[in-house]
Amino acid sequence: MKKKSIVRFLIVSIAATLALSSTVSAKNLSYWSSNCYDIGYMNKSPSLYYKKMDSSSSFPFLTAIQQGRSQWNSALSTSISNPSATNTSAIMQFYGGTKQQIKSLGCFVYVDDGGAGATIYTSENESAIHYYGNQRIIEHKIWGSKSAVLSDVGLSYNNCIKTTMHEMGHALGWYGHASNSSFVMYQGRSSVTTLKSGEKNHLSQIYR
Ligand SMILES: [Zn+2]
Repeated sequence: MKKKSIVRFLIVSIAATLALSSTVSAKNLSYWSSNCYDIGYMNKSPSLYYKKMDSSSSFPFLTAIQQGRSQWNSALSTSISNPSATNTSAIMQFYGGTKQQIKSLGCFVYVDDGGAGATIYTSENESAIHYYGNQRIIEHKIWGSKSAVLSDVGLSYNNCIKTTMHEMGHALGWYGHASNSSFVMYQGRSSVTTLKSGEKNHLSQIYR
């Protein structure tokens, strides 16, 4: 009888340790620029794969990826790897192509919603809880992301850069959207190709 209760206690304490370890990194956040109260964290040096399915030279997909990589790396002190066309197991994946080509991948179900890009994750439901004032913020550990940028929906050169940078922001953990239309993380077509301090701060506080 006594033995049984010791075993039970051990199991309870292991469960309690697991629950605590997932919340120890709770932070008081100083900035919030999103319309939802979730945020993600990928890792400090994500590997990056890209597939340019639309080979047209007027689709500046790789240039856009490099701009996003450079600006987000500088904003978050991350080291997103050089885009590789062969590392298909990279944690961050970018696909650029026509709506039909992106549809053929089978994983982007929102490709018909009128947007120019999309990002999907595999992630943890709740890996940490933070607070922005009294607002509870749920952090999700992102295990992998896939982003798509469409080449045949009438995007200008700068629209394509913006869309790619925007999807990279989602891939790195920017959930929801900014209401400020001068932000890259604003939802909708724009020619903004420079990250603003408000959107950098929003995500960098999770990467610090
Ligand atoms: Zn978005």
